[in-house]
Amino acid sequence: MTMISRNQHNISRQKISENALKVLYRLKKLGYEAYLVGGGVRDLLLGKKPKDFDITTNATPEQVRKIFSNCRLVGRRFRLAHVMFGSEIIEVATFRGHHEHGNNEKNISTQTQNGMLLWDNVYGNIEEDAQRRDFTINSLYYGISDFTVRDYTGGLRDLKEGRICLIGDPETRYREDPVRMLRAVRFAAKLNMNICLKTAKPIPYLAELLHEIPSSRLFEESLKLLQSGYGFSTYKLLCEHKLFQLLFPVIARHFTDNGDSPLERIIEQVLQDTDYRLKNGIRVNPAFLFAAMLWYPLVDLTKIINDKNDLTYYESSALAMHNILDEQCRTLAIPKRITTLVNNIWSLQQWLHQRQGKRAHKLMEHPKFRAGFDLLVLRAQVENNNDLHNLTKWWDEFQIAKLTRQKEMATKVSDKKATH
Ligand code: ATP
Ligand code: MG
Repeated sequence: MTMISRNQHNISRQKISENALKVLYRLKKLGYEAYLVGGGVRDLLLGKKPKDFDITTNATPEQVRKIFSNCRLVGRRFRLAHVMFGSEIIEVATFRGHHEHGNNEKNISTQTQNGMLLWDNVYGNIEEDAQRRDFTINSLYYGISDFTVRDYTGGLRDLKEGRICLIGDPETRYREDPVRMLRAVRFAAKLNMNICLKTAKPIPYLAELLHEIPSSRLFEESLKLLQSGYGFSTYKLLCEHKLFQLLFPVIARHFTDNGDSPLERIIEQVLQDTDYRLKNGIRVNPAFLFAAMLWYPLVDLTKIINDKNDLTYYESSALAMHNILDEQCRTLAIPKRITTLVNNIWSLQQWLHQRQGKRAHKLMEHPKFRAGFDLLVLRAQVENNNDLHNLTKWWDEFQIAKLTRQKEMATKVSDKKATH
């Protein structure tokens, strides 16, 4: 174990959220061990702002719940305490211990045939906890009693050298929880680090294990992967490690050898735009992301259905929308509130062509008009299609004209009020 004393590292309590400090001090005062761990320590050591603060302690979840009135226990497979302070949640986990396989008695974890852990609530001490974490850089502990950083797995060196390394035997660790494959890629992209060879090697042939993960968890992970500010580089890495195909089979089927089809271009563009928006504090919407990513598979399927059946284009497209989302939701359970919006954004692509009479004015009132228009712009861009360019130009001018008219009206009304 390596210990770095308070004057030899750059973690200052000023950089730790007040609420996390409250929890740490309270646990310490009651005689428990309490450490900041995970992304909080990792990001502070790197001089970055942590997304959230995770705490680990030798108090059991029940003991933690009794200490904090604003606390609830969550998770079955992995029982945790959430201490709530308004919108900030401080996650408090009890030290994990080593698990033995076999049956389901107390203190023994349960696994599937493939080695996946279904129940992992065996408690232990800090050394054991360090071995149960995923990557060495995520297994650094900042103690509130002496302000030292403790490293049991070589995380400090890997952090310095920019390496994402799993703790223990990679294949066993991926089998225990296949989502660790996605996490490896996520941290590599976010921290601009390399996945070390031993950790990267088994990924392509174990990727299939992701099928065992509930589609709701994969949906949550997919947002962390693509909508956390590093979507473009994460996407590139997901493809490189053969993971993207598992999450988005509907899309990957259409990939081309030279990687330069409208489908591939729209994915790269929408992810770069999303990263840009997040860096500049602009709102992002998962429905728009999914609508853009799945647009060309939708166009293809609509054409296939339309060619083969006696349906109108409109009916074929409605059926294709349903089928594409249905298939995508089998791997990622996109919630209904989002698929409804995806459908709206897609439908707008046809409606945006119909501009006669009052239609254009009415269409602009559509709640998803802006997202629909933005997808039209993206399509024009990646297809370099003149008709689409003209259409986006028309809508641009129409929106500006409408805005100007509204402003003129508003001035007239306020002038009138002033004279009365
Ligand atoms: P960030 O919050 O910035 O996304 P993080 O490293 O804090 O990154 P969390 O998902 O918040 O990630 O998890 C907190 C810590 O819990 C991790 O740093 C890691 O030590 C441990 N952990 C999380 N998920 C797993 C997992 N699937 N297997 C093993 N350990 C895990
Ligand atoms: Mg975290």
